[in-house]
Amino acid sequence: MNDQIKYLLKYQSVDGKVKEIEDSLKKTEEAKKYYTASKFLKTVGEVASSIDAKAKPLIDSYNALVSDVKQLENQAEEFAKSVESCENDDELNYLKKKFQDVANSILQKEDAIKNLQKNIDDIFNEYNKLKEENGVMKAQYNEFAPKFKELRDSKAPEVKSLKSELEEIAKNIEPSLMQKYISKREDKRFPIIFGVDTSTNSCYCPACATGMSISAKNELVSGNIKECENCRRLLYSQTELK
Ligand SMILES: [Zn+2]
Repeated sequence: MNDQIKYLLKYQSVDGKVKEIEDSLKKTEEAKKYYTASKFLKTVGEVASSIDAKAKPLIDSYNALVSDVKQLENQAEEFAKSVESCENDDELNYLKKKFQDVANSILQKEDAIKNLQKNIDDIFNEYNKLKEENGVMKAQYNEFAPKFKELRDSKAPEVKSLKSELEEIAKNIEPSLMQKYISKREDKRFPIIFGVDTSTNSCYCPACATGMSISAKNELVSGNIKECENCRRLLYSQTELK
C-alpha cells in the first residue's frame, strides 16, 4: 500500500497543477461572462415555457369572461326592449329587477376582467424582460465564447502535457483506487488525499477536523488508505509512510 500512497500523492501533485490552470481560467472575466451567458441560454427556453404556462389559464379565463359579458349585454338589451313594450306593472317590476341583476353581473365580470388584465400585463412584462435579457446574453455569448476559447486554447498544450504525465503515473495505481480519486475530483474536492498524524492517541482528518475512531486509525497505521467518514477524502498515515 505504501507505493500506492506514494503514487497517488505524486498524481495529486501533478493534478494540482492542472487544477491551478483550471481555476485561473475560471477566474477570468472571459470565463465568467461566457459561463453566465451560456447558462442563461441553456435555461431560457424552460423559463419562457413556465411563463407561457402561467399565462395560458389567465388568457383562457379572460376570453371566457369577455364572452360572458357579451352574452349578458345581449340579455340586458332584451330586457330593456321588453320594458319599453310592457304595460303590466307586475311584469314591469319583474323585468326591471331582471335587468338590474344582469347589469350587476356585468359589473362584477368587468371587475374580474380588470384584475385579470393586470395579472396578464405583469406576465407580459416578465416575458418582455426575458426577451430583452435574451438579446443581451446572446450578444455576450457571441463576444465571449471565442475569447474564452482562445484563452483555454492558450493553456491547452500545458494541460495536455500534464495530463499525459498523469496518465503515466496512473498506470501504477490500482484502478479502483484511481476511480475513487477521479470521482472525488469530479465532485470539485481538492486536495483529495491527506496524510494523518497517527503518532498521537486522538487522530483527526486534516481536511475537516473530524475525529477518527480507533479502528479507522488502526487501518491507517497498518498502511491502508481510508475514506474520512465525514468529508469522504482519502486518508493515509503520514507517520507510517516510509
Ligand atoms: Zn474529513
